[in-house]
Amino acid sequence: MCGIIGYVGKRQALPVLLQGLHAQEYRGYDSAGIATLEEDQIRLIRCQGKIACLEEKINNDMGSSDIGIGHTRWATHGCPSEANSHPHTDCSGDIAVVHNGIIENYLELRQWLMDEGHVFSSQTDTEVLPHLLEHYYRGDMQEAFVKAMSKLRGSYAVVALCRQQPRTLVAARQDNPLVSGIGDGEYFWA
Ligand code: GLU
Repeated sequence: MCGIIGYVGKRQALPVLLQGLHAQEYRGYDSAGIATLEEDQIRLIRCQGKIACLEEKINNDMGSSDIGIGHTRWATHGCPSEANSHPHTDCSGDIAVVHNGIIENYLELRQWLMDEGHVFSSQTDTEVLPHLLEHYYRGDMQEAFVKAMSKLRGSYAVVALCRQQPRTLVAARQDNPLVSGIGDGEYFWA
C-alpha cells in the first residue's frame, strides 16, 4: 500500500502535492518523493523516511511549477532507500511515474527492457513503467500509456508525467483505488 497524488492546474503544484501526501502518509511512510516540471526539466526530490524529510530537502524552495506527482511509499519490491523511492524515471529523465500496487510480471518486463538497452537504477517492480513508456513514446503520451498498461499484470494505480507534454498527466488503475478531482481549472489524482 502507498499513497499517490497528481496535480495540474493554476496553483503552485508543490505545496498542493505535499498537502496531498500528508493526507495519505498513513498509507506508507518508509520514503517519499515528488516530481514537478521546472523550466522544462523534471525536478525530482526523493527521500528515505517520512514526508518531513522530503520537506527538509525541499527547504522551502517551492518552485513555480503548476504540474507534478507525489508518492509516499510502503515498499513491496526493493528495500526502503532513496534509489527505490518514487517517482521513478526513464533513461532520459523525461518521464516520471508514481505507482501504488504490484506489477506481477515485472521481472520478465525488466529483462526485456534491459535487453533493449534500458538502464535500471532501482530494485522496484515500478521502474519498468517509465521505461515501458519511454519504449512506446512517439510523441503522444496517451498512446504510449495505453500500450504500456496493456503489458502489465497485477494491481496498480499509476500517474505519469512527461516533460514533452507539460499540461498533461496520465493515469490508470487496475484493482486498486484511484480517484480524480476536478476543480476550477485544476485536476487532481489520488
Ligand atoms: N510496489 C511498489 C514499490 O515497492 C509500490 C509500493 C506500494 O504500493 O506499496 O515501490
